[in-house]
Amino acid sequence: MELRVIIYLTHIRCDATFAYMKEPQTLGDAILYFSDPHRSFDYAVKLRWPDGKVKCPRCGGLEHSFLKTRRIWFCKQCKKQFTVKLKTIFEDSPVGLDKWMIAVWMLVNCKNGISSHELARSLRVTQKTAWFMLQRLRQAIDESPRHEATGAEAKLAA
Ligand SMILES: [Zn+2]
Repeated sequence: MELRVIIYLTHIRCDATFAYMKEPQTLGDAILYFSDPHRSFDYAVKLRWPDGKVKCPRCGGLEHSFLKTRRIWFCKQCKKQFTVKLKTIFEDSPVGLDKWMIAVWMLVNCKNGISSHELARSLRVTQKTAWFMLQRLRQAIDESPRHEATGAEAKLAA
């Protein structure tokens, strides 16, 4: 059976995002995979906007230009910049997307759950940082199977 997990990347009142991390296969692979900043950025973009339509988190505008060197968008509608982290659970955190993506991967794929100690070891961050990350992720995660997700989403949105 496939393991499917719902993660509310954005705050509940914003768009709920369905995250299904299929690859990579092992933790070692995941660490290697996400150590490439371009790849972890692309992955985060894919998680946040699964349909590929990057939408301004402030105004919902679809017209924007992308500043590649800084990995930020400039919205042509509200004339403000936004990042992939803006208004998500990754916001206000100095932790890089590479580490966040590994943490998400671990949470989705480690069936027996992960401790902050394990996370700290894998990410090479302090236990305090790992604890904070898990806290954020657990608040965002909903482990009900996909077919029940609509109900959970509806409940949370109410
Ligand atoms: Zn905008």
